[in-house]
Amino acid sequence: MTSSRTIVIAGAGIGGLTAALALAARGFRVTILEKAELLEEVGAGLQLSPNASRILIDLGLAPRLATKAVTPETVTIMTARSGGEVVRLSLASPARPDAPYWLVHRADLQGVLLAAIQSHPDIDLRLAAPVQDIAAAADTIRIGDFEAAALIGADGAWSAVRAKAFPAIQPQFSGLIAWRGTCDAASLPPDLRPTGVQLWMGPRAHLVVYPMSAGTRINMVAIVPGEALAPGWNAPGTHDDINLHFSRARWPANARAMIAATDNWGRWPLYTMPDGGVWHRGRVALLGDAAHAMVPFAAQGAGMAIEDAAVLAQCLGETTSDDELPAALARYTALRQPRVTRVQRMARQQGQIYHLRGPMAFARDTVMRLLGPNRLQARQDWIYHWRP
Ligand SMILES: Cc1cc2nc3c(=O)[nH]c(=O)nc-3n(C[C@H](O)[C@H](O)[C@H](O)COP(=O)(O)OP(=O)(O)OC[C@H]3O[C@@H](n4cnc5c(N)ncnc54)[C@H](O)[C@@H]3O)c2cc1C
Repeated sequence: MTSSRTIVIAGAGIGGLTAALALAARGFRVTILEKAELLEEVGAGLQLSPNASRILIDLGLAPRLATKAVTPETVTIMTARSGGEVVRLSLASPARPDAPYWLVHRADLQGVLLAAIQSHPDIDLRLAAPVQDIAAAADTIRIGDFEAAALIGADGAWSAVRAKAFPAIQPQFSGLIAWRGTCDAASLPPDLRPTGVQLWMGPRAHLVVYPMSAGTRINMVAIVPGEALAPGWNAPGTHDDINLHFSRARWPANARAMIAATDNWGRWPLYTMPDGGVWHRGRVALLGDAAHAMVPFAAQGAGMAIEDAAVLAQCLGETTSDDELPAALARYTALRQPRVTRVQRMARQQGQIYHLRGPMAFARDTVMRLLGPNRLQARQDWIYHWRP
């Protein structure tokens, strides 16, 4: 395979697939090397805020995605102290008519991205093709049997590209476990079926609940402290395990009823990458969780991977020869790091606020009520109004 104007992407997650489409739209040939033999998205739901949905729409994916996504009107913040509502934020915004807030099943998003990739003549997706060996030369980079003008490591928090190119940077365990599960919307009593996003704040735990798959399924994520499991994704969990964190003494009946309706709990230890760090050297750059895995409390991990993809394509698209690619990758990193670092920090802070206990939780709920929906909503504007 010739290397000229060919980019190899390691990893066919949401970041890698979006980057492939964005780069191909700028005239590059793209080879995606994915270690899995079959692309089946584990996990459950995903919130895609306007900064991310706008990019997917620009890539022409709206017709397929819109039929599968739920477009919620509100985020309701609930408190376990009383079982009641603290504040309700509106997600409808006349300031961004071009970009909805979407709730999607990960499998649906991946399916839509894959369909677009498979019908693109300039994108070659290779499964069962783990990236292992990387050898950089002055004007190309060799990845196993492939030669390319640049390599993008979009291979997740346990990135092999990062381990080869920047071995000193390692993911850290956050001390938190995400429990994820789904249930049929019809299995919940009508008064408990959420139509928008519900965020429940409680002592040392929080719960996020929302509809997806055109409203037929409900996604649940419960965040609690826990021990690190072996690196990687998904170990099954039982009701007894999760009930330890959502006891009757601390959590109201309505939140517990939603937890009880979910029967396929899995747990993900949350590993994060340090803020900033090194994302680029020569013809290699990182994207998505490989660069900046973060705690999911701003619901922006995939959003940032999608933004990375758009900015990467923009920077590389401005070059006219392969010689300019290393400088373009440096520009991509410089453009992305300040914003991603700010999101990483905000996500951590939100987790701390959600998990407050006792008088601090009372103070939090009071301050949120006093601030009111408009001022709380405005704190997200810098994230949602972003454009590449
Ligand atoms: C509980 C939870 C809830 C979340 N909710 C949200 C949300 O609501 N909104 C949001 O925006 N984000 C959310 N996120 C974050 C989001 O899931 C991730 O940030 C996003 O999926 C990262 O995508 P990625 O493509 O960078 O990496 P990944 O999805 O990890 O994809 C990496 C790919 O690389 C492949 N790979 C790995 N090693 C190799 C190798 N050596 N060679 C080739 N391929 C390889 C893997 O098989 C995989 O396909 C959440 C995360 C969690 C844990």
